Amino acid sequence: MINFRNTLDFAKELDSKDPLKSYRQKFHIPQHNNSDMVYFTGNSLGLQPKTTKDYLQQELNDWAKYGVEGHFLAKNPWLSYHEILTDKTAKIVGAQPTEVVMMNQLTVNLHLLMVSFYRPTKQRFKILCEAKAFPSDQYALQSQIKFHGFKVEDALIEVVPRDGEYEIHHDDIYKAIQENKDTLALILIGGVNYFSGQVFDMKGIAEAGHQVGAMVGFDLAHAAGNLKLALHDWNVDFAAWCSYKYLNAGPGSVAGAFVHEKHHKNTDLPLFAGWWGHDKTTRFKMDREFVPMENVERWQLSNAPILSMAAYKASLDIFDEVGMEKLNEKSKVLTAYLEFIVEEINKQKKNSLEIITPKANRGCQISIVAHGQGKALYNKLIENGVIPDWREPNVIRCAPVPMYNSFEDIYRFGEILTKLL
Ligand SMILES: *Cc1c(COP(=O)(O)O)cnc(C)c1O
Repeated sequence: MINFRNTLDFAKELDSKDPLKSYRQKFHIPQHNNSDMVYFTGNSLGLQPKTTKDYLQQELNDWAKYGVEGHFLAKNPWLSYHEILTDKTAKIVGAQPTEVVMMNQLTVNLHLLMVSFYRPTKQRFKILCEAKAFPSDQYALQSQIKFHGFKVEDALIEVVPRDGEYEIHHDDIYKAIQENKDTLALILIGGVNYFSGQVFDMKGIAEAGHQVGAMVGFDLAHAAGNLKLALHDWNVDFAAWCSYKYLNAGPGSVAGAFVHEKHHKNTDLPLFAGWWGHDKTTRFKMDREFVPMENVERWQLSNAPILSMAAYKASLDIFDEVGMEKLNEKSKVLTAYLEFIVEEINKQKKNSLEIITPKANRGCQISIVAHGQGKALYNKLIENGVIPDWREPNVIRCAPVPMYNSFEDIYRFGEILTKLL
């Protein structure tokens, strides 16, 4: 363990020893009074790689040059563009290449996958999720339940934190699974809770779910590109994530989907089909009958959004160069330094800040309750060149992202916050 110090020199020293320090140069950092802002919202919208515009330009050029022929003649032919993303994406989430595909948007993918993996019966119809799941996930689950003719109050189990706590105990999740062992159809939890930053034990939850005969899926919006994942080995049934948070693919960019290999041969699984899920060797015969691909691409509906994918590829290539292993190593130290700085501020400011992210279960986000403060604090942080995320009534979420945040960012955040409190 490093003996941290709350000084600019110390932060700069850590930066100078950081093996990933050069990667910050590869991103556009938002500016404030001609200097870099402290950008702590990579968990909301990741920063833009400087190469993104070249990747986009390539596709614009090929479109200008070839028109529709670009599907075959583009440098990266559009017909198979999504396939060149597969291997590198699989490495990020710990999957086999046949198990991941980039398609649609996150909430769309959750719905499409639930069509196949939430098949409620009179006996087995319940869904278990974490309390305070991201709103879109709550709406998706509620609407799926209603769509199948069940009542939300009967079918949705939300595991809540204990009184006065923010963390959801895994024991409580396992207890709820056991209590509903004969009626549970699906577990769908965020791999990392967006609000508290709590990381869930995906392997343990998948095991516990399977033991009682439920399907297990994860929303990895806050986990992909943040944590080391092993979806295949953890035996997760399905997962979906967006690419615009830690994966830096730009606002609303194309999302990811995972379906475990064990389901690929089961072509009887019901699904909503489109032509891009049809066996690609005969897709363009344009036959009436749907012949399903025997991998996750079966869940694709439409031809690929190339511009969105090009932006994703720019960031993906950087991720592939660095690797999740190294990002994870830096992330642990960076987050620990932020925690240290917050504790230092507390010594001076009478414990006005409470970290609600569990120390033992976290990635690169720390959520802080600022006692006695309101939105004015957030506005002042912005005015002073810090971009954190604010959740009513008084939670600041900070995500020091190992790809481009520095130890100096954290030091400066502490300095500014101390001044404002
Ligand atoms: C960001 C986020 C979403 C957003 O969904 P979109 O379909 O991409 O708009 C959904 N769920 C979670 C858990 C998120 O963090």
